[in-house]
This record gives sequence, C-alpha cells and structure tokens, in this order.
Amino acid sequence: MSQLLDQIAAIVGPKGLLTGEDVRMRAADWLGLSTCQARAVVRPASTAELSAVMKLCHAAGQGVVAAGGLTGLVHGADCTADDIQISLERMRAVEAVDPVGRTMTVQAGIPVQAAQEAAEAHGLRFAVDWGGRGTATIGGGISTNAGGNSVVRYGMMRDNVLGIEAVLADGTVVSALNTLIKNNAAYDLKHLFIGTEGTLGIVTRAVLKLQSAPQSTNTAMLALDSFGAVQDLFVTLGKRLGSGLTAFEVMWANFYEPLAINSGRHNPPLPAGHSHYALLEMSGNDPDGDGALFERVLGEVLEAGIAADAVIAASQAQAEAMWKVRDDIEGLYHYCMPSATFDVSLPITAMERYAAELEAKARAEFGETTKIVVFGHIGDGNLHIMLGAQPFTDETRHRIEELVYAPLGALGGSISAEHGIGLEKRDWLHLCRSAEEIALMRTLKTALDPKGILNPGKVLT
Ligand SMILES: Cc1cc2nc3c(=O)[nH]c(=O)nc-3n(C[C@H](O)[C@H](O)[C@H](O)COP(=O)(O)OP(=O)(O)OC[C@H]3O[C@@H](n4cnc5c(N)ncnc54)[C@H](O)[C@@H]3O)c2cc1C
Repeated sequence: MSQLLDQIAAIVGPKGLLTGEDVRMRAADWLGLSTCQARAVVRPASTAELSAVMKLCHAAGQGVVAAGGLTGLVHGADCTADDIQISLERMRAVEAVDPVGRTMTVQAGIPVQAAQEAAEAHGLRFAVDWGGRGTATIGGGISTNAGGNSVVRYGMMRDNVLGIEAVLADGTVVSALNTLIKNNAAYDLKHLFIGTEGTLGIVTRAVLKLQSAPQSTNTAMLALDSFGAVQDLFVTLGKRLGSGLTAFEVMWANFYEPLAINSGRHNPPLPAGHSHYALLEMSGNDPDGDGALFERVLGEVLEAGIAADAVIAASQAQAEAMWKVRDDIEGLYHYCMPSATFDVSLPITAMERYAAELEAKARAEFGETTKIVVFGHIGDGNLHIMLGAQPFTDETRHRIEELVYAPLGALGGSISAEHGIGLEKRDWLHLCRSAEEIALMRTLKTALDPKGILNPGKVLT
C-alpha cells in the first residue's frame, strides 16, 4: 500500500479500508452492471474519522468520490482508478427523534427506507420517497436533491432537510445541524450541499423535517384517453382534494402496455387501449371519511368523462401492486435497453406536444423499431423518458440527447428535474443554465475545493 493508504488505515482501522480484490468485488451501480474501479474504498465510522481522512487527501491532492447506495442515475458516483471512494455505509444511525418539533437527526449513510421506518415508529413520516428507497441513502438523496413520488405535496429533499453536517475538502467539519423551521441568521449553508452531488463537501449527518403520519391513504389507477384529460384530472383533483393529493404519477401507453401488460411481471390493474394511465394517492387524517371522499371524487371524474376507467385499491396489497408497476424501473431497463434515459422538467401544458414531437423525430431518424417510453411525476412538471435505437453507438446516444434536450430551452425547461448532472449531463448544462450561473458555480467550487479533489470531473467541466 502507498504511504497515503497506510496513513488512512491508521485512522479508520482494518474495517474502514478496502483495497485490491475487495474493491473490485463491489458493484459500482444499483443493477450490478459494473464493478468499482477506485484505488481504495474508505469506510469511516464517524465524522471525526472522515475529517482526518480528508485532511490527508487534501494534503496529497487525492481525488475522493462520496458514495451512498449507488442508485444515482447520472454516473455521479463513478470512480476512476485514481480516485478513493468514501462510502458512508458504516454511518447509518438514527441519532435523535423529536416528536414535538417533528425532526429527526440521522447519519448520512442510513438508507431512506430505514429513516422512513424510524419516523413511522414515532407516528411521523419522512415524506421524501422514491423507488430506490431500500438502497438509496439520505446522504445520496440530499446530494442529488432527490424528489420522487410525493413532491406534489411535500416538495423535494431541499424542502425536507433542516440542517446538515458536512466535511469540506480540507477536512473542516461544518456542523450546521439546525433543527429550527425559522432561522434567517445569515446564509443558510445547508444549500451548499443539497443538490451539489458531493462536489462541495461530504454530508455526514442531517436533520430531517418530519410530518404527522397520515391516518388514511387511498390509491387508485385511472385510464385516460388524451393528455388533455390528464390535465383536466390534475386541475380537478387539485380543487377537490387540495393538499390531500400526495401523488399524481402518469404513464403513457408506451410505458404501461409493454411493462404492465406484456412483460408478464405484473397483474395489470387496468386493460390496454388507453393513451395514459394515472396513479393517484390521497392521504388524510379522517379514516372514516377519506375513502368516501376519494370514491366520490373519482366518480365525478368518470361521470364528467375525464377518466375512461378507474380502479381503487381495495387493500394495501393492491395499492402496492399498482406502485410496483410505476416503480418497476428494472423491468423498463429489460424492455428498453440499450437506451438513453432522461429526467427533464417542462411546463405541464407543453408536455403533450414535446413528447409527440420527440417520438416523431426519433422514429424519422432511427426507424420504426425505435423504442420510446414516457412517464413521470406529472404533477411536478417532470417527465422521464427512455429512448432506445439500434445500433446504439456513442453517436446514437449523443444524437438522442440532442433531440431530447434541444427543445427544452425555448420551453423554459430543465435537462435535469431530479437526478442531477453527474458525468452524464455535464456537457449539456449550458442549455438550461446561463454563462453567469455556471461562472458563479465555478467560483463556489474553487472557493470550497481549490484543489478540485471532491468528485473530480463531475457536474462542471
Ligand atoms: C429504482 C430507482 C428509482 C429512482 N427514482 C427516483 C425518483 O423518483 N426521484 C429522484 O429524485 N431520484 C430517483 N432515483 C435516483 C436518485 O438520484 C437516487 O436514488 C438517490 O438520490 C441517490 O442516492 P444514493 O445514496 O444511491 O447515492 P449515490 O448513487 O451513491 O450517489 C449519488 C450522488 O451523490 C453523491 N453522494 C452520495 N452520498 C453523498 C454524501 N454523503 N455526501 C456528498 N455526496 C454524496 C455521489 O458522489 C453522487 O454524486 C431513482 C433511482 C432508482 C435506482
């Protein structure tokens, strides 16, 4: 081992440092398609250990890449053979829960689902939730400002984090573990670490904002025959359910039919033949009245001709089966690989035309066998797209990216709604951020990480 690794080993002990085969055996992504290429994996057990490690790495100019559950979708945690990976897998504790102030302090390596379950044990809810919950960590979610299935009601990670502790590039520990809802005492430093993908600091602990756990949850899937109907449905539910609407997910037929019906992976809640399928969730605090209200509103929606068909989950198992269709990203990969995957934002009113034009352009360019899948958190203006064309070369990928991203600027859209930039979108950032914005990002990066050792090469070129 090198002198640097010997010094790190002296800080973190034998459990805290992996090298050689122990590194190569580790997956580098959530599907296990690639293995870790890092020079070493460091697994600190505390903030103090990480701080000491970072002091050494800073002095040596050693690049480090923070890793959570490796469920990120933009190659943000990829390591080269020169990098050291810093895994937070030994820092998973729930340190405190305040059921009155409704906050929870956790170490950043805790999986999202474990944090949710810890809140539930106190009758509370950590409301940021997405399909990767079992593996994704709170630190990774903070670093990508993850969104997910309940943003329409509760917002993204940024809206659900009150305080953060982070270790800077030179090992300085910034403990901004604020637990207050209101704190305008100068700069709110947590935002330096939310959505910055481990390029400005490594998040070690966080204070999460919790909600009262809902007393009832009602789930339904609706079939619709036009995108106009999808918009009418969203407006109607906003009026009738207000803040009770906690999820509004939409799958185009090109998602629903191959995945829910043809793949054999699911028991389809609704038949084929419709243009869109909406998955709705209403949460409330009146278990006796909420179900009746939900049924009444869906009845009105059917009667008004907005929805063509609907099924309300009669049990928790049925609700979970509906969510499994929407969250079956692995099934989508099986259907659509090789393909490029996207996560864009644009006004809801522009979505229908954008998606139709993209499909037409892709088919004209790559032929009728082109596979396109469209779905997303429509209530948040967030579309996910998968586009596969054969042969899938680097040039094909680049051209597909151009087709997806180029129209977004004129629509006031974004190339990343929630997954971040990582390596994958870095070269397209200029399409939705001005030169002045990017220059300010560089100023921040240089101020906090002058040697460029934190997640080298990611986000900014
Ligand atoms: C099935 C599935 C569904 C998904 N659905 C959604 C969705 O609906 N909405 C959504 O927003 N995202 C979704 N995602 C992607 C989402 O970005 C990631 O799941 C999550 O945010 C990353 O968490 P992680 O712990 O796996 O981080 P990783 O993948 O390990 O890392 C992601 C980035 O964060 C950095 N990082 C990790 N930990 C730290 C830390 N402690 N300090 C500083 N930087 C750190 C890494 O360097 C990297 O840049 C989904 C992913 C999957 C696999």
